Amino acid sequence: MKKLLFIFGTRPEFIKVYPVIQEAKRQGNPIVLVNTGQHKEMLNELLDEFSVEVDYDLKIMEKYSGLSEIVAGSISGLDPIIKKEQPDVILVHGDTAATLAGSLVAYFNQIKLAHIEASLRTYNKFSPFPEEMNRQIVGLMADYHFTPTEMTKENLLKEGKPKNQIFVVGNSAIDMFQYTLKDDYTNEALSWQADKKMILVTAHRRENLSDLEEIFDGIAEIADEFRETHKIIYPIHMNPIIREKAQKLLEHSNIKIIDPLDTINFHNVMRHAELILTDSGGIQEEAAFLGIPVLVLRDTTERPEGVLAGTLKLVGTSKENIVNETRTLLTDKTKYERMSGSKNPYGDGTTSLQIVNILNEK
Ligand code: UDP
Repeated sequence: MKKLLFIFGTRPEFIKVYPVIQEAKRQGNPIVLVNTGQHKEMLNELLDEFSVEVDYDLKIMEKYSGLSEIVAGSISGLDPIIKKEQPDVILVHGDTAATLAGSLVAYFNQIKLAHIEASLRTYNKFSPFPEEMNRQIVGLMADYHFTPTEMTKENLLKEGKPKNQIFVVGNSAIDMFQYTLKDDYTNEALSWQADKKMILVTAHRRENLSDLEEIFDGIAEIADEFRETHKIIYPIHMNPIIREKAQKLLEHSNIKIIDPLDTINFHNVMRHAELILTDSGGIQEEAAFLGIPVLVLRDTTERPEGVLAGTLKLVGTSKENIVNETRTLLTDKTKYERMSGSKNPYGDGTTSLQIVNILNEK
């Protein structure tokens, strides 16, 4: 059985890596878990929530800040661990500093690298920043590219990656629902909203920070226009810039700003939404599985299959666009049903099984 070393550092990485860790455990692979500690609070809560004990915690955010320092600190923290553990394969996910640092350390130590959720691209170097370049660089070094869809596979073929290293496996975000969804779920935010329909909002992307006023003005206008029928729930990111602006601009009786939810709570709240406005990547995939239309608060997306399938629509960050597109969906039943009834392109929840099988066989 191959020894697998998982590196992650943020909430979204852990959410998509957890099902793979569980499957590797089930198949009896020796595993080593390394948390770089990039999202300290949000990730530690998740680890507690799923009773996961990591073997190493680099606590990177206690020592460093700024992208260069975080990547440099992660590399120097990871290197001795990898030398000691000598895994057969190092697994990284997506496009964070942990992903980039982990893949460089794998390469320097000549250990096989598996990239989960490989080959998402916008081909715009600053959108999303710095994720686009992180994932392109990791793509240069990976030996196993676990890519979600046929469309994302095309990116790797265009870039000249060998076909026998590319595996279309869906997205492990979908697998995660088997660990989180509960039928008899209730919570405070859901009770608050229960007399109306719900719009769920999340916004955190670095490149959207300068457009937050526009986004928040749009959301406040929607809350006003649809005050009789809808309420808005916004689990807000820990970033203090976002929190300050939201508290100022989203003061409205139909908007509830709450702290970030842990994943079990978030998934169970999300499944009740009629519509989602978000700039998050993972939520776009999860919503497709749940049949909830998403208006994406960005100008680009690395998830074109979701747009093509009809479950996602790019609306950018201008107030006017956000309000108009939301109004259309909330008032035009045919358009709404076309989006909510679209086929989920992100797989059937067997991604982690496929990944571990491939790693153990090849
Ligand atoms: N999520 C969560 N709690 C929240 C908001 C989001 O657990 O309050 C989850 C969500 O289900 C998804 C992931 O966090 O799996 C998305 O993370 P984020 O938006 O931070 O990052 P991205 O996907 O854009 O990289």
